[in-house]
Amino acid sequence: MSGLVLHLSANQADRLLGAAYTCFPNECCGLIEGRCAEDGWHVVQLHEMPNIAEDPSRHFLIDPQPQIELLRRLRGTGHAVIGCFHSHPRGLAEPSTTDLERAVDDDFVWLIAGGVPDDFSFNAYVFSSGTFTKLTIDIPK
Ligand SMILES: [Zn+2]
Repeated sequence: MSGLVLHLSANQADRLLGAAYTCFPNECCGLIEGRCAEDGWHVVQLHEMPNIAEDPSRHFLIDPQPQIELLRRLRGTGHAVIGCFHSHPRGLAEPSTTDLERAVDDDFVWLIAGGVPDDFSFNAYVFSSGTFTKLTIDIPK
């Protein structure tokens, strides 16, 4: 397992907050393209995807079609899907009990934005052995 740091650019952080803002009062969601290194996880790109949950204001379910397309596109690039992101409208930037129930993949990064349109914040976690561990987020200036 890599160091517990998620390396994110300022642009990617803006993109996450922008998606949370735009989708409000529904949850935004998508997958994180990145790579694993000695010093943690490096985000290459956030891929926002349609939330096809029955009640997108309370849950998220990522449309499987663009997920499959992304996995195909990443084949042989050295990049992988290292995690997912979603938002908690009017909620906290931390995993909910539903997130804990739904998390299956070990060493999978979860970026979660919580709040209201003008005041969203986010945290990153890694899921492993049944629990979420908070990651340090490194955003270079
Ligand atoms: Zn959630």
